[in-house]
Amino acid sequence: MNTATVRAEELSTVDDLTYGARFLASLPLHAHRDPAVLRRWAEAADRFGAELARTPSPVPAHVVERTGGLERGLLARYTSRPRAVELYTDAIAAAERLVARHGWREWFPAGSVRAAALAHEAVHERLHHGPERAALKRALGHTALRLGRLRVPAHVAGAEELAAHAYARTVCGLGRSPLLLSAALAASCTAPAPAPAPSAREK
Ligand SMILES: [Zn+2]
Repeated sequence: MNTATVRAEELSTVDDLTYGARFLASLPLHAHRDPAVLRRWAEAADRFGAELARTPSPVPAHVVERTGGLERGLLARYTSRPRAVELYTDAIAAAERLVARHGWREWFPAGSVRAAALAHEAVHERLHHGPERAALKRALGHTALRLGRLRVPAHVAGAEELAAHAYARTVCGLGRSPLLLSAALAASCTAPAPAPAPSAREK
């Protein structure tokens, strides 16, 4: 097996919820949280995103294509002012190449990275403007403040991101969460440069 195959296997044996919990743990705000709590939040956010897919959001109306996603580690980004989605075509193309190289086409059919990125950003748009933001907080059950019988649900950093991934996975019918692609992209950026191929003269 070549290194790419080994790496693909290593990456894909980690399940989606573990990637979700790892993502939360990577955020400075959650650095000291109990891993079991992070896992529970990752599960709740995933469930929320998957359920959101029962009433799909319209694909964002304003899509701007640009490059520069690879150095920023971004496939796409939602901006509320102006209300638009930026799609980073270089990062999307790189993710598609990774899918092909790692043999993950069954999970991510051709063109699905772009579709998933648009679906993901549609959730950010929806949560930014719609009532679902409060519903997500309630689904997570993290309490900011308790005053007698009054419970004020708290924001959980990163939960919206996980919900958006779960939504994209569900509406696009993907075999795995795009979190796997994020992990693979990050790994490919930190991977040592491949050994130089033998030159044509030596063959
Ligand atoms: Zn996002």
